Amino acid sequence: RTKMEGRNGYRFFHPEMQRMAEFRLSMEQELHRAIQGQEFTLHYQPQVDTEGRTVGLEALLRWQHPTMGTLGPDKYIGIAEETGLIVPLGRQILRMACGQLQIWKAQGFQGTMAVNISARQFRDPYFVKDVQDALAETGVDPGSLLLEITESVFLDNLEESIEKMEDLCATGIRFSVDDFGTGYSSLTYLKRLPLYEIKIDRSFTRDAVSNDFSRAIIRTIVTIAEHLQMTVIAEGVETDDQQKTLIELGCRRFQGYYTGRPVPADQIFAEQKKSDQ
Ligand code: C2E
Ligand code: MG
Ligand code: MG
Ligand code: MG
Repeated sequence: RTKMEGRNGYRFFHPEMQRMAEFRLSMEQELHRAIQGQEFTLHYQPQVDTEGRTVGLEALLRWQHPTMGTLGPDKYIGIAEETGLIVPLGRQILRMACGQLQIWKAQGFQGTMAVNISARQFRDPYFVKDVQDALAETGVDPGSLLLEITESVFLDNLEESIEKMEDLCATGIRFSVDDFGTGYSSLTYLKRLPLYEIKIDRSFTRDAVSNDFSRAIIRTIVTIAEHLQMTVIAEGVETDDQQKTLIELGCRRFQGYYTGRPVPADQIFAEQKKSDQ
């Protein structure tokens, strides 16, 4: 008997559908076990200014799977969302990122920590409390935390999202809009949301050197951000040429393989330490 033939005795007719359902179910059980077993860790990627100084870090989820090695989020974050497991997982992530930030703060790091928040997590009624608990338990100053949300998060329920964001902003937490320019929302909502930062999507960075249209979009984002007194950061910067082009277009913050890949906590400041000696 397979799992899908279980209690209510039915079976999906289409074998492909059954395989998918079985995969999802086993993935859900795996995720559940991994959350309990604390198999999730964070890698950190530097965010730099024009001088190359690390002004911030983004925490990126990794699964230290017992047999499959280190797994990036793309394969399982969707299932974690749909099953609601992103809520307890998100709590772990916030605690890990804040705990690590507090260690680096004690060592003199003055930058921010950016944590990705998914829609399901943001919509959870305990989200505001979860964030506040993570800060309180780790002693992190709310002004050092940046929550990255995508356009889809607030498109769903704008009024409620604004209210939630304002509650968090009132405590000093800041918001960044991730993958900006890839969603379907209009630019006018930017004015209504308490956003601190816009992250230019990797697709525009990738084409910045060769594509006039991508350059026009980047320039537009920079101009709008200036009007609204928001910071702009470009993601996915892989080459010196891309960074130079972005600087020409008015961008002053960068994140990408060019300045540093996401790495485990003990490796992030390794190079700087070397050059300090
Ligand atoms: P994101 O937030 O847009 O993160 C940037 C992604 O681009 C990361 O992939 C990062 O490793 C990758 N990246 C950074 N620099 C470069 C570059 O120069 N070139 C290229 N090609 N890629 C670059 P990653 O770590 O696989 O994460 C993928 C997505 O999964 C993230 O996109 C984010 O939406 C989500 N995610 C990651 N960590 C978390 C988390 O803790 N919680 C939640 N809810 N979602 C997360
Ligand atoms: Mg992000
Ligand atoms: Mg992004
Ligand atoms: Mg992206």
